Amino acid sequence: MLDLRPSCEHCDCDLSPESRDAMICSFECTFCSTCVDEVLKGVCSNCGGNFVPRPIRPAKEWREGVSLARFPASTKRVHKPKDPAEQTAFAASVATVAPENR
Ligand SMILES: [Zn+2]
Ligand SMILES: [Zn+2]
Repeated sequence: MLDLRPSCEHCDCDLSPESRDAMICSFECTFCSTCVDEVLKGVCSNCGGNFVPRPIRPAKEWREGVSLARFPASTKRVHKPKDPAEQTAFAASVATVAPENR
């Protein structure tokens, strides 16, 4: 099940489960879209993968047994700020390879 983390791993801003600003990599590393663009340069600093917008888990139980209330968001903040210069160099090398070829 997708881990809906409550905050950006770099800047620690709040990312509520309904936020359209949350971005995730395939390992669920979670960042705000500003950090993905401006600090990470679109490359996950932890795994080198790409990002997609995090899907929003419905608050309302449209189908029995599946909703945010039944499967709540995580409350565990992951805050591991990245070194912007190191990340820029890392992203520059990784981004030369398309995500599907990394
Ligand atoms: Zn951020
Ligand atoms: Zn990652």
